[in-house]
Amino acid sequence: MAPRPSTSSELKRRADRIRKILNARYPEVAPALFYRSPFELLVATILSAQCTDLQVNRVTPGLFARFGSPIAFAAADLEEIEGLIHSTGFYKNKARNIKACSQALVERHAAQVPADMEALVRLPGVGRKTANVVLGAAFGIPGIVVDTHVARISARLGLTAHSDPEKIETDLMAVIPRKEWSAFSLRLIFFGREICAARKPKCPSCPVNDLCPYPDKTT
Ligand code: SF4
Repeated sequence: MAPRPSTSSELKRRADRIRKILNARYPEVAPALFYRSPFELLVATILSAQCTDLQVNRVTPGLFARFGSPIAFAAADLEEIEGLIHSTGFYKNKARNIKACSQALVERHAAQVPADMEALVRLPGVGRKTANVVLGAAFGIPGIVVDTHVARISARLGLTAHSDPEKIETDLMAVIPRKEWSAFSLRLIFFGREICAARKPKCPSCPVNDLCPYPDKTT
């Protein structure tokens, strides 16, 4: 008789089925943020905290036209940055982080964005989420990006029992093939916007409904 599959192998098989269904539903995924370089993506991602990608994209063309490099941002007047990013919210904090991050890039990395997680998270205003966005999209280094959509949907789908982003990241890394880490995160974000919304998820039309153990599904 074949041995009973372990809980972890069952989980992997379920994650695999979910991954394939989302791959088919969202075949082409890319960050919705506008950027032309790793540095622009880094700044745009800092700005996207508590703000929609659409609003960030309204602000960044003017911002990057005024300040085109880490050197320019490092020397910029803080109040001028604040004025340019005001509509993204938390603008004082974001302006301070962008300027300090640019200064650190100039001082430690020859004004280049490092393609390295440890170096990135040592930059002011840069956490693992931002670092994984930049590594995945600008450098092709796979990483699980844990934003609110990814955290919520991973929990509903039973892919994690944690609420701490770093632990969620580790749980997803264990069940998703490495080369798909970045794309899987983006697919969950698209899926969260379209189907598995925070309030009133569209469970009756959800393509992974039969794989989802969430106890409060809508009917
Ligand atoms: S069944 Fe509902 S809760 Fe589960 S993943 Fe689908 S939309 Fe989300």
